[in-house]
Amino acid sequence: MTHEVLIIGGGLLGCAAAWHLARAGLAPRLIEARGINAGASGQNAGSLHFQIERRFLEPGASGQGAQIVRLNTLAIEEWAGLEEELSRPLDIHMHGGLMLAENEADLALLASKVARENELGLPTQLLSGTEARGLVPRLAPHICGAAWLAREGHANPRILADAFADAARSEGAVIETQSRLLDLRRDGESWQATIEHSGRIVTARARHVILATGHWAARVAARMGLNIPLYLAPLMMSVTDRTAPFLPYLIQHVGKRLSMKQTDDGNMVIGGGWASAPQKMADGLPDLDAPPYLVPDNLRANLEVAAGVMPCLRARSLIRSWTGMTCVSADQLPIVGEVPAAPGLFVAAGGSMFTLGPLLARMLARSIIERAMPEEIALFSAARFAHLNAFAVPS
Ligand SMILES: Cc1cc2nc3c(=O)[nH]c(=O)nc-3n(C[C@H](O)[C@H](O)[C@H](O)COP(=O)(O)OP(=O)(O)OC[C@H]3O[C@@H](n4cnc5c(N)ncnc54)[C@H](O)[C@@H]3O)c2cc1C
Repeated sequence: MTHEVLIIGGGLLGCAAAWHLARAGLAPRLIEARGINAGASGQNAGSLHFQIERRFLEPGASGQGAQIVRLNTLAIEEWAGLEEELSRPLDIHMHGGLMLAENEADLALLASKVARENELGLPTQLLSGTEARGLVPRLAPHICGAAWLAREGHANPRILADAFADAARSEGAVIETQSRLLDLRRDGESWQATIEHSGRIVTARARHVILATGHWAARVAARMGLNIPLYLAPLMMSVTDRTAPFLPYLIQHVGKRLSMKQTDDGNMVIGGGWASAPQKMADGLPDLDAPPYLVPDNLRANLEVAAGVMPCLRARSLIRSWTGMTCVSADQLPIVGEVPAAPGLFVAAGGSMFTLGPLLARMLARSIIERAMPEEIALFSAARFAHLNAFAVPS
């Protein structure tokens, strides 16, 4: 039997794509090496950040931030409709987000960011420090301004991929866990996958294959002789003990790495792109399957940035820190679409794929169903890196 679509990876991207494809009657098969949501999709900060990210404002990153804003406006609508579409509560909170400024330089950066976003149709507003403290009285007195976006927020990363997987199954998708792709080869008009399933080796054929393997994507592609420029980003997160609810918003910082939010239970979740360190294999290369090590200096620095803008955090206890691995592409934008050197092979990885994941999965599914790349994601096309495979001989 030849499947229309075989999806490799049961994170947010793979499960959401499976749901869209199943709804269109394509009965996809999804294989996941471990369990659903075992990768970055279940370990992330859960931030729904639609303002231009801090990393896009860093030197050398000109252009990309503005480009992604257009898609963020679509992602806002995608998240707003998800609970209704999936018919279940998903802990989605879109009450607003503040990106803070601590000094004049931060404020100037924030002002130019807001102007750029407004031009592109994103309704961010520049607030004074007093106005920001009007929303969050516990902000430090030296916070001199903030960019406010009324529909930013956060969602619970522990439940979303499973919700998509359940919905996909009920529409006819076949989802298999403990099923690892070992090898993928082009065979005539279709692809042949060799899969290890609970200790047995089996094969499957498919006309289209989606590599939704997160930070494993570059290595899976390399085994097939293909170059996909995705680089590891081992990160870390922390959570404090509970306190009475006071922060219904997402907090970010324009000049420093910070994301902060409060869960329904009152815990403060703190992160913002601070690095952890990968474990190494015998040959010295990063071990993609092992959780990265926590870097104590980065943990201290992350907590210091958080307490600097929210001094009441100094009275809280840290109850857990954890690490997770994700990946960024060569130009920091996600890579989504068919790999030109390998017709029928689609990739979806890189970038802030929690925030953008539900939307990009819908677009990716559309590109297979309609056999054409949706114009909205042309910017993310894998074809922009086609030159890297000019000499590739996909096996
Ligand atoms: C600590 C941290 C914080 C983050 N915070 C945010 C945030 O706040 N907002 C945001 O937008 N993004 C955030 N991200 C990024 C976001 O989590 C990822 O971009 C997103 O989850 C990627 O989803 P995915 O489905 O592509 O990959 P994953 O969730 O990693 O799923 C890939 C799956 O593929 C499986 N797999 C791999 N190889 C194989 C194989 N050979 N065969 C079968 N299965 C295989 C894996 O087991 C895994 O389950 C964060 C990431 C981390 C690590």
